[in-house]
Amino acid sequence: MSRPRLNEARTKIVATVGPACDSVSQLAALIEAGVDVFRINSAHGSISQHAEKLANIREASEQTGFPAGVLLDLAGPKIRLGHLSSEPLACPLGARFAFVRGNDSQREGELTSTYPRLIDELEPGDRVMLADGMVALQVESVTASRAECVVVAAGEIRSRQGVNLPGVKLSVAAMLPSDIENAIWAAQNEIDFISLSFVRTPEDVRSLKDLLNSYECRALVIAKIEKPEALANLERIVQEADGIMVARGDLGVEIDVAETPVAQKRIIATCKRLMKPVIVATQMLESMHHSPRPTRAEASDVANAVLDGTDACMLSGETAIGSFPQESVATMDRIMYKTEQSIVAYQNPEAVDVDDMHRATHAITRAGMEVAEAIGSKLITIATHSGGTAWVKSNTRSLIPTVAVSDHLASVRRMNLFWGIEPIFCEDIADTSHLIEQVTRWACDQTENGKNVIRPGDTMVVVSGSDVVAGADNVISVHTLS
Ligand code: PGA
Ligand code: MN
Repeated sequence: MSRPRLNEARTKIVATVGPACDSVSQLAALIEAGVDVFRINSAHGSISQHAEKLANIREASEQTGFPAGVLLDLAGPKIRLGHLSSEPLACPLGARFAFVRGNDSQREGELTSTYPRLIDELEPGDRVMLADGMVALQVESVTASRAECVVVAAGEIRSRQGVNLPGVKLSVAAMLPSDIENAIWAAQNEIDFISLSFVRTPEDVRSLKDLLNSYECRALVIAKIEKPEALANLERIVQEADGIMVARGDLGVEIDVAETPVAQKRIIATCKRLMKPVIVATQMLESMHHSPRPTRAEASDVANAVLDGTDACMLSGETAIGSFPQESVATMDRIMYKTEQSIVAYQNPEAVDVDDMHRATHAITRAGMEVAEAIGSKLITIATHSGGTAWVKSNTRSLIPTVAVSDHLASVRRMNLFWGIEPIFCEDIADTSHLIEQVTRWACDQTENGKNVIRPGDTMVVVSGSDVVAGADNVISVHTLS
């Protein structure tokens, strides 16, 4: 098997692993269909189950020759319902329920939650949203042991479902003990990306980074934006994090769903300006849980995320528990690809300098892209240890296929999140002629729209280092393929 890597969308695909896709052969098939990064959701399953998924992903990467990235998603301070008196429990309009202490009440009309201080922190007038916002309760009165509520939006609820409290300031910590355990496991198992749910402040992100640092873990920390507080602190959170997820599932409950499209655009624009990768998540191809084809609205949703400038889009239940995981990935890839072809390459003039990157590398990379555009090169090759140089190129959004070659496997896996970058591994990137030979051999097999990406006579621009200046990419060279 070999994935046709340059004949696919520049925008990256993150796919959630679950029972519908977690065997080695199914994961390999998803890689062939276009998955770049797999998400393991820590909200479901134990560490030994995460380990089994990880082993299968690594095996599928081995089989396909594509080192997929792995993201571990930490559940964070998500509040859940306790056990209900009946399953499902109907909540008709006007019915009264009371939250009580503990997390297991069998009494009719009583609800419990996993958050011990819930009753202390609720106030009359607050809204409690259940079942992904389908059911809404309004708090009427609070005593030391009960918060009396009335149903203002009717529906059914089930045990262990999430509880959203829009606008209620909670004192809950950024990470629960289970998040810390999962993060330590991730640090010890070469996980590439770790995302944190329900981030409210930059300090929340910092606390996860400090924990990972103490384990010498270099995973990129992705802050999930799904709380109004996070939107209020957006700039500082984006600065602190290594990447961002627009977590529209919870965000659309925590703020008015009518405000989520503009929030998405604002989050992406902030990430692009501060040069951080961004993932758009949740319900992108929701109907493909049960259908081999998406709705028109879903196709537009994926396309609009691409046009907004996102680096990646995510599939959740579509791949984890849906009936059409492969079709979902292939469909997402096709919509992205078609949309990208309409983008006029743009540079990101507002982008700030990347932290701790050699200024020369930054300028040279952009110049290399301009040379490639000017002479109509068919391929750009970037030599990079950390992936930093490839990230600069990614932000130019030039459609010219770009191969980033690294001698670190961890960097190769991380670059899977970078828009328009095809990462490959090579032991020695210091020897430029060896590098060119390897990339040429690799690229000769690649086709885009049925045509070879490069043919004899085509030019390739190479951005590489030289031994004159250590630690920086400082050479642009043009090669004609013989
Ligand atoms: P979740 O996060 O799937 O872990 O809830 C994504 C979202 O809320 O959109
Ligand atoms: Mn969420």
